[in-house]
Amino acid sequence: MIVLKTSRELAAMRDAGRISARALKLAGEAVEPGVSTWEIDRVVRRYIEEQGATPSFLGYGGFPASACISVNNVVIHGIPDKKTIIKQGDIVSVDVGATFEGFVGDNAWTFPCGDISPEAQSLLDATREGLFEGIKAAQAGNRIGDIGSAVQRYVETRGYSVVRDFVGHGVGAKLHEDPSVPNYGTPGRGVRLLPGMTIAIEPMINQGVYDVKVLSDGWTTVTADGKLSAHFEHSIAITENGPVILTLPD
Ligand code: MG
Repeated sequence: MIVLKTSRELAAMRDAGRISARALKLAGEAVEPGVSTWEIDRVVRRYIEEQGATPSFLGYGGFPASACISVNNVVIHGIPDKKTIIKQGDIVSVDVGATFEGFVGDNAWTFPCGDISPEAQSLLDATREGLFEGIKAAQAGNRIGDIGSAVQRYVETRGYSVVRDFVGHGVGAKLHEDPSVPNYGTPGRGVRLLPGMTIAIEPMINQGVYDVKVLSDGWTTVTADGKLSAHFEHSIAITENGPVILTLPD
């Protein structure tokens, strides 16, 4: 069931989105050579709790941390730990959700650690721009397939592949609501977008094949071929006046 939000609820979602966006920004500033993913998670958790919010991911389905931190060939759902030390040249995807006054903001960004290879930079650029192509397609009256096909066309033209096993989602009072928001699709197909719908668009884009595998911890999802993967996400609202990004830091 798709839950449409009132303007008052959208304002509350913007507050939750702002907290999650600021937590994500702080995480990015913490990405440095020699820092563990556990330390970055601490920064995220401390900030969210200081705002009177709660980390949406902590305990979700048993997830043991506040942020998913996924380095290089890890696509999503990397579990922060003290052993994973970030190095110069790594790409570090951080996915953060904050719940505030009953609503969730969910966002992700892939941060470079220092100078990265031109190939890695190109993957990051394509994934970020693919996200914004998807957001541009999220117009009232369009359909879910218009979003996915916009992302897919943009990144595949540049030689990258779209992960199929994980997709974006509705977001609101719950972290995951209907509908599913794939990053691939056919224009004009799928659920029609209506004002008041709030969705998280989150392309997960691979340098090589789109296949992924989940490691034995049940969470960590890696590329099947060991190549790099990037992940960018915003929570947005569909409005009469076009898409509005809810996860902005100010
Ligand atoms: Mg999400």
